[in-house]
Amino acid sequence: MAEQDEVSELIKRKMGQIKKKIAVMSGKGGVGKSTISALLAVHLAKKGFMVGLLDADFLGPSIPKLFGMERKKPLSSIDGIDPVLSTKYAIRIMSIQFMTPDGVAVIWRGPMISKVLRDYLAHVSWGRLDYLIVDMPPGTGDVPITVMQEIDLDGVIMVATPHDLTASVVERAINMARTMNTEVLGIVENMSYFKCPDCGRIAKFGRGSELLARKYGLKIIAKIPLEEKLSAYCESGLIEEYGEDHFRDFIP
Ligand code: ADP
Repeated sequence: MAEQDEVSELIKRKMGQIKKKIAVMSGKGGVGKSTISALLAVHLAKKGFMVGLLDADFLGPSIPKLFGMERKKPLSSIDGIDPVLSTKYAIRIMSIQFMTPDGVAVIWRGPMISKVLRDYLAHVSWGRLDYLIVDMPPGTGDVPITVMQEIDLDGVIMVATPHDLTASVVERAINMARTMNTEVLGIVENMSYFKCPDCGRIAKFGRGSELLARKYGLKIIAKIPLEEKLSAYCESGLIEEYGEDHFRDFIP
């Protein structure tokens, strides 16, 4: 118990150096949560803020790939572990993938994940940051609960797609955040529409997230199209070079 308290104290001290801590959640995997976390970090860094990005998706870490830094290793410093800096905007990035041998799948059990996550939060030297973006794993399991218990989050952003099926799962995540007294800042609708590059016709896929936003009195922060260009930049690890800013003037 004493050891737990010590870790919580360390986490508190580290988090005290960060002005705003925002988690990105979705009920479901594969809706583009990591992509949106990365785009949000880039958006804020481009506005001149000091930004950190924590990949808390232990079972499917994908932040290093989006930034083309899968082979990078963080260095230890007297203050803990230094995050890896992204090439273009110097976003401070930390992911469990940096700590595991290349190509090795690590099998984590629930309680172990929470312990490792707490150790991470206690030992990563973010330094002074304006924003820490936390890319949560899908669902409402151990990691989101631990993050919400240990970090005094300023808010959560929900990632949904327009499909009814996703909306109903995101609804669970909204309810969880509210139960944990964490403010939901709004919804980012990913894969919102598709603009045909040949004829310019715009196809929409549904109204699930709009209805969800209305039901919970939330705003839609951004609508991100389903786009070959975005997919290509993600696949080649060049998300910082993507160039479009769908968040416009959004400052959380
Ligand atoms: P999650 O974190 O929810 O599991 P990811 O962010 O890893 O999802 O995205 C899953 C896949 O979908 C990735 O290959 C990503 O490049 C792709 N993707 C995400 N959003 C878009 C989009 N708006 N347009 C095209 N591809 C996308």
